[in-house]
Parts: sequence; structure tokens; C-alpha cells
Amino acid sequence: MPSRYPHLFSPLDLGHCILPNRVLMGSMHTGLEDKKRDFPKLAAYFAERARGGVGLIVTGGIAPNVSGWVKPFAGKLSWSWEARKHRLVTDAVHAEGGRICMQVLHAGRYGYHPLAVAPSRVKSPITPFMPRELSDRGVERQIEDFAHCARLARDAGYDGVEIMGSEGYLINEFLAARTNHRQAPWGGSFENRLRFATEIVRRTRAAVGHDFILIFRLSMLELVEGGASIDEIIATAKAIEAAGASIINTGIGWHEARIPTIVTSVPRAAFSFVTARLKGEVSIPLVATNRINMPEVAEGILARGEADMVSMARPLLADPDWVRKARDGREAEINTCIACNQACLDHVFLNKPATCLVNPRACRETELNYTPAARRKRIAVVGAGPAGLACATVAAERGHDVTLFEAGDDIGGQFNLARRIPGKEEFEETLRYFRQRIGSTGVKLRLSEHVDAGSLERFDDIVLATGVVPRTPPIAGIDHPKVISYPDLLTGRRVAGSRVAVIGAGGIGFDVSEFLVQSRPSSTLEPARWLAEWGIDPTLHARGGIEGIVPEPETPQREVWLLQRTEGALGKRLGKTTGWVHRATLKRARVRMLGGVDYRRIDDIGLHIVIAGEERVLEVDHVIVCAGQESRRDLLVPLQSAGRAVHVIGGAEVAAELDAKRAIAQGSELAARL
Ligand code: FAD
Ligand code: NAP
Ligand code: SF4
Repeated sequence: MPSRYPHLFSPLDLGHCILPNRVLMGSMHTGLEDKKRDFPKLAAYFAERARGGVGLIVTGGIAPNVSGWVKPFAGKLSWSWEARKHRLVTDAVHAEGGRICMQVLHAGRYGYHPLAVAPSRVKSPITPFMPRELSDRGVERQIEDFAHCARLARDAGYDGVEIMGSEGYLINEFLAARTNHRQAPWGGSFENRLRFATEIVRRTRAAVGHDFILIFRLSMLELVEGGASIDEIIATAKAIEAAGASIINTGIGWHEARIPTIVTSVPRAAFSFVTARLKGEVSIPLVATNRINMPEVAEGILARGEADMVSMARPLLADPDWVRKARDGREAEINTCIACNQACLDHVFLNKPATCLVNPRACRETELNYTPAARRKRIAVVGAGPAGLACATVAAERGHDVTLFEAGDDIGGQFNLARRIPGKEEFEETLRYFRQRIGSTGVKLRLSEHVDAGSLERFDDIVLATGVVPRTPPIAGIDHPKVISYPDLLTGRRVAGSRVAVIGAGGIGFDVSEFLVQSRPSSTLEPARWLAEWGIDPTLHARGGIEGIVPEPETPQREVWLLQRTEGALGKRLGKTTGWVHRATLKRARVRMLGGVDYRRIDDIGLHIVIAGEERVLEVDHVIVCAGQESRRDLLVPLQSAGRAVHVIGGAEVAAELDAKRAIAQGSELAARL
């Protein structure tokens, strides 16, 4: 049968080898690269993606020397004995018929350690260490170290290397006048600033020979003041090609940029226009990146001729079989990356191994396996929120006879509310995936059934995944008609007026505020409009893509106050890599964020509060309560008293600090043991 994605599945001839398709698994640090003892896990992780049919894999960044570490004792390859452990990875990938390149990443001034070096003594705004300025001899040594590292990667069995030249790391720092204040031969004119990158490519090519893939990740849209102009980017791409690169991959944004590039509210394929601008300027393949997560998105980019390959990193963490499913026309089975960053990037920033919110097996392929059950049991799972959905489908996949009871008329629980937030529409994909899994694993789904303890007698094991109920804070007037619960607001059962106060500034308070100020779902937002709202120049004439561009002002739908009792800034507990986007979005919509609030009462006038010892009245039409949740587990005691085998997971177990990451992981882990 002809493929629905003919461009995605057309082979790519690189001269000395032919890639089977146009999917490049982009580099992503998992935390498993740093220690030798984790290499068996890293090998299993990549092998599973190779088995899933990825055309070409790129590893997380490996430093060419100690000064290039991202953090102390991060992955490094500068000695031949360090190459040995990489054999585990390359052999595992080759055994599955895959190909893998190692990314050579020198962190430059982004290095989170005192040995960091840079072209000039210019500290980055996101690291505490002042880098040491390289001497001219030091620059030469760095270039040699790149080439040596690539040679060792070849010895370790890799099919190629990717040289990391974007995101504000060392090579990018040499290219940019904002971080390179040197004179000739490595600074001053653009030609001099370019020399470091081209020398690295030239000497790396000489060190590895011609039958080895050499990808260069080029910074194509810097999103910082003083970033590169489009003429400089084109000139860099041409010089990189001439120096011997086989593929140019796209880098979007320096890490210190304050414009979102990968979070879930960024429209799909929002940055493919950047790669498209380079088409025709070079003759080697170009790779498009960022927010490409489903086959139709990837196919669209290739069919429009915007790129020759697509890079996906997180989508392959979420589903190792993404490529095979797309190829076989089983896209409905894809476990889609929802771009939440919660278990991947946020973990890496907290020095925890990466995994995935929608796939807790990611990076744990040697530990968490869904093997056939020794004995088929009758299992009741009560509650079809994320915890219950994960538990029921994994248990059924293992061969158990599973019935999933849900009181509501649809699956999803609180997640079904999350998908209604503008910018969180991707969450619907997870529910689509679970609907499909319920069918394929044979879970018996019983919607609109509110079960009690007595109705569960015929089951061997009972799993309580009954989740949470919103907390009702003891504020005078909390039963006033002005008060709306967040489920009532988000499901449209009630509509808020034009002036609204939100009690509680956790993840849900922030989301509800976005819902209140935005008039339309982000999925209906054209990428062009999103670029305008964030002040990105689609013509690429502005330096860095932003210089001199004024973001289009927002017209918030409502006047909103977001409140919390805790003193200080709001949103401190939001995700490391996403919280700043939520804060920036609300700021642009002129939401007033107040900390240190004491709630006094709600009446016909509005919400009465005390703040810094002063009484104030917020004359609002409505008050939305987002004051956290409490566990719902009224079935537990009766079931335990009846001596039943009962397990409690997700919000039903602990409501505090609950998120879908914990709910799905707990559900999957329990089901793997049942
Ligand atoms: P729930 O989702 O509460 O599901 C429990 C289910 O059990 C419900 O469907 C309920 O109807 C059913 N049930 C209860 N009692 C019975 C019974 N007796 N019989 C039958 N069925 C019963 N999390 C994140 O990780 N990232 C986010 O970005 C995020 N955003 C959010 C945004 C919003 C607006 C909201 C509301 C939540 C968000 N969450 C987010 C939180 C996430 O949705 C919850 O942590 C998660 O849904 C909890 O899963 P759970 O399965 O434990 O419980
Ligand atoms: P939460 O993060 O615990 O926040 C609850 C908020 O209510 C806090 O601001 C708290 O602040 C306030 N509060 C608590 N008790 C109160 C009381 N008695 N009276 C008045 N205010 C009270 O919970 P949530 O916002 O409901 O979110 C639930 C879970 O969903 C979170 O754990 C979160 O991880 C997850 N979630 C995640 C995201 C995401 O983007 N990753 C988005 C949404 C939800 P004060 O005590 O200072 O007032
Ligand atoms: Fe994607 Fe979220 Fe999984 Fe990361 S944790 S891979 S962003 S779904």
C-alpha cells in the first residue's frame, strides 16, 4: 500500500550511505550519558528507537574536553578508554539496523562549573560562573579537541558526529559579536568570528574521513539582541558546507532567549520557515526542528520543500515506535509528545534522569517492562483519569482481564479539563492515544458508572484511581453565586464576567487565568500570528529575528487578578523550563498577580482581601477557586474492611504535588507488578 507520508519515507542518499527515511532523532540530554554505569540503560534506550525505525539517531551532547562540560563530570570523550563504553551503544543500535551519530557539545560560557571557557570574559545570564577567556593557543587546542573527539567517536563505532554550533554554546559564542569581543584571528570581523566554526568542521572532516556523517547544528534564529543577521547565517551555512559538513541541522534560540521555542503553546512546526529560508543556499540536506510531533506535520514540512529531514527528540522519547507506526498507517496509535517538558527537560535541569510524562518507560527500558502476566486476573480499575488509564491499559496488555469504571461520561478525569486550556490542546492527543489503547488491549470500559464497594466483589484485584476533588477553602461567602469552581468554568457549565479574581496560583490557577484572558484556543492560532505576538520577524530581516520588532499587544478578554496567600512572586513552583512562559503570557495579558493575600469574604460587591496590612475590595463579577485538591477515596475503607486486595494510585493516594506525570507512572508501575 502506498505510504500516506511519501516524503517522510523516501530514502536519503548521503553519498557513502543511504538513510531509510527522513526522521532524525534529535539530540537530547537524558542524564544517562554522564556515568559509565548508565551506559547499558542508554544502549537499551537507543536500541528501542532504532528498532522502531528511526532513520538516524543523534546522542545527547558529549564534551570534547573538561572545559566543555555542561556541568561537572558530564559526559566527555577525550581519551580512548572513554570510547570503550560507547561501544555498548553503537553495537546495540547497529544490531537493530539503525545508525547513530554522537553529538560533540562544548558548553562554552553555559558550562555550569568554574572551568568554563569562552571567546571573551562575558558571563551568561543563566549561569553563575564567569568563563575564562581562551588564549589564541587555547582556541587552537579547542579545535583539535573537537577533531580528536570526533575521531574517537568513529573508533567507538558511531556512524557520524553532530557538531553543536547553536543554542548559544561555545561555537555560537565565537560566531556572535555579542559574546566574541576578540580581535583577529578569531574575532573582530564576521569572517574572523566564523573561522572557529569552519576550522572545527574542516579539521574534523580531515580526522574522520569521507565515509562518516558530519552534521553541523547551525544557529538559524537566535532570538537574542545582537544575534546573527540572515546574511551572516547564509554565509555561515555555505562556509560549513564548503568545510565538509554532510548535513545542516537547525538550531532555534539561545538558551538565554526569552521567547518560547518548544513548549506546548508554541504552534506545531512554527519554526520550519527558518530552515526553508536556507533551501537553495546550500546543496547538502537541511533538517527542520522544533514542535514537530505527528507524521502529518513532518510530511507537510517535507512536501512543501521546507527541509530535507525533520528532527524530533521528545516525540521519540514519548514513543519509540513512532516511525514504524507512521510507516504502517497506524498513526492513531502514536503516543504523542505533548511538549510539557515535565519529565524530560525539567528533570535534566534538576539533575534527575530524563523520562517522559506519557511514557514512563523512557530511559527505563531495562527496569520497567510490561511482560506477560503469570496468571490472568480479573482486575477492576476505578477511575479513568491518567492514573487509571495507564494502569488499566498496561494490565490488559500483560494479559489481565480488566474492567475500567468511570463515573463521568468520558475518559480523562482532570486531564480532560487541562486540554481546554489555550495552549494545552496537545493534551487531547494523550486521550486519543488512551482511547485507542483501551480498544487494542481489550480493556472493558464502563462509562457513567459510579461504582461502590459492593459492586466490585467479582474482582481479584481492585485499583482505586478515583483521583481528586477541588478543595473548598473556608472563606466567608464561599457559597456566594459569584463563586465558580474551576471544573464548572472550564467545562462551560458557568461563564465568568469581565472582571474576575482567581484564588490560588498553582499550576491550575495559572492555567485558569490563561483561559480567562484568551479568547480562542491556541490550536486555531496561525503560526504567523503567534510569531507576531512574541515579536519574531517572519521575514528574518531583523538581527536575531527580533531586533527592533515590537510584539503585537494582546487584547485580554477579561480583567483578571491572580492571588495567593504566600508572600512573594507567583509561579515559583511551576516547571523550570515552562514556568517563565506562563508568567510572561499572563504579564502580557496584564493579569495582576498578588502574593501575601489574606482572603476575608466574598459578597455582592466582590472579594474582600487584606494585603500588606491594608484592606482592599476587588470589585469582581466572579471568583474562581483554584485552591488545590483533596484525595477522593471513600471506597478505600469499605474495601479494606471487606478484606479485598486493593491498591491506591494517583490523586486518590496523595493529592499534594500531584500531576499527570506521577499519576501515569504510578499506574504503569503498579500494572507491571500485578
Ligand atoms: P483524576 O484525573 O482526578 O481522575 C479520577 C477519575 O476517577 C475521574 O475521572 C473521576 O470521575 C473518576 N472517579 C472518581 N470516583 C469514582 C467512582 N466511585 N467510580 C467511578 N469513577 C470514579 N498535570 C500535569 O502533569 N501537567 C499539566 O500541565 C496539568 N495541567 C492541568 C490543568 C488543569 C486545568 C487541571 C484541572 C489539571 C492539570 N493537571 C496537569 C493535573 C492532572 O490532570 C492531574 O494530576 C491528573 O489528572 C490526576 O490523575 P488521577 O488519575 O489521579 O485523577
Ligand atoms: P497547587 O499547585 O497545590 O496550588 C494550589 C494553590 O492554592 C496554591 O497557590 C495555594 O497557595 C492555594 N491554596 C491552597 N490551599 C488554600 C486554601 N485553603 N485557601 C486558599 N488558597 C489555598 O494545586 P493546583 O494548582 O490545584 O494544581 C494541582 C496539580 O496539578 C499541581 O500539583 C500541579 O503539579 C498540576 N498542574 C501542573 C501544571 C503544569 O503546567 N505543569 C498545570 C496545572 C496543574 P497559597 O497557599 O499560597 O494560597
Ligand atoms: Fe514530551 Fe512531556 Fe514526554 Fe517530555 S515529558 S517527551 S515534553 S510528553
